[in-house]
Amino acid sequence: MSWRRRNFGLVGAVLDVKEVRVALHPDLLNILCCPVCKGDLVVVGAEEGLQCAACQVVYPIRDEIPVMLVDEAVPLAQWEQGVREVYR
Ligand SMILES: [Zn+2]
Repeated sequence: MSWRRRNFGLVGAVLDVKEVRVALHPDLLNILCCPVCKGDLVVVGAEEGLQCAACQVVYPIRDEIPVMLVDEAVPLAQWEQGVREVYR
């Protein structure tokens, strides 16, 4: 288990009670695209993730950093059930 994964448990708990909002710069969103289909991404939740509508996945935002890795993408159906991290 990496440092980032352990740290995310704490960050996730804080986000759950809506005490922290992540400030994503609009310019950052403009340059980000889905690594699979190169499509546009939409912010979901309290800037908790970036959703690709075409691929039906959400790329999580951790420590204010979008994780644009296919291996870390959460299937949209699971994301809507509260899953924020995929364990493989
Ligand atoms: Zn995509």
